[in-house]
Amino acid sequence: MAEANGVKKLVSNFKDEVASRPGGENVLNCFLCGSCTACCPISEIADNYNPRLVMRRILAGMKDDVLGGGEIWRCYQCHSCVAHCPQDVRFADIVRALRGMSVEQGYRDAKLAEDVDRAGEESRRELLERVNALIASAAG
Ligand code: SF4
Ligand code: SF4
Repeated sequence: MAEANGVKKLVSNFKDEVASRPGGENVLNCFLCGSCTACCPISEIADNYNPRLVMRRILAGMKDDVLGGGEIWRCYQCHSCVAHCPQDVRFADIVRALRGMSVEQGYRDAKLAEDVDRAGEESRRELLERVNALIASAAG
């Protein structure tokens, strides 16, 4: 991690690095409007998840915070932010790009990426099973 005297360094070309990755191409379009955060179902229930703040950190060059922190792993990949973004930034795809960079550059282990993908799939299956049970048990 790029850190000197306990102070994390800014990496000015971080946004360009993100833009060069599949899924990250539109990162520079962001004007930090916050629509992604306003429509995000995870932000609604988690104080420590804010897509707009992640975008701000990317544009500010806070590479260590973004790739080494926990935020990029909390995204549920529902793509609501993609549908609501006025600049076609495609934040959900940027998250995928950032996760790949985090693993490739040694910030996080590949197992975390696999476990997060599996947890997402399992939670969707669990939701479907619960709804199916509710439908089956409902009167009428
Ligand atoms: S990613 Fe899109 S919705 Fe989110 S802050 Fe940037 S421009 Fe706004
Ligand atoms: S894809 Fe991720 S960041 Fe976008 S709205 Fe869904 S949970 Fe939030």
